[in-house]
Amino acid sequence: MSLNRQWRFALVAAGLCLQSGCTAENAEDILPETVYYDTATKSTFVMERAFETPAVHPQTGRPTLVPAIHCPKCSQWRPTPPVEELQRNPKAMECPRCGTRMSFDGPLPDSP
Ligand SMILES: [Zn+2]
Repeated sequence: MSLNRQWRFALVAAGLCLQSGCTAENAEDILPETVYYDTATKSTFVMERAFETPAVHPQTGRPTLVPAIHCPKCSQWRPTPPVEELQRNPKAMECPRCGTRMSFDGPLPDSP
């Protein structure tokens, strides 16, 4: 009887959670900021993750921000290659300078 009540409570709580979209909020808690590469200024830019790519630069209002990937060897952020390039070329994720495989994880660059 009491076990049944607990299950019912859990189901209601899960339903409320879905309705209020708390799963999306939790995802943003894990990834609050994303490193972008500004193709206009050729510099990195850190901001909240945007849904569209390229993302709109909040200061210029222009869609010049592409997600950046990090080379651990050069300690440098680079623009992510286009999706077609990633699908066609397995080496697209490798650093053009040193050949190290790059990743989306890395130390946040200093804000200008
Ligand atoms: Zn490199």
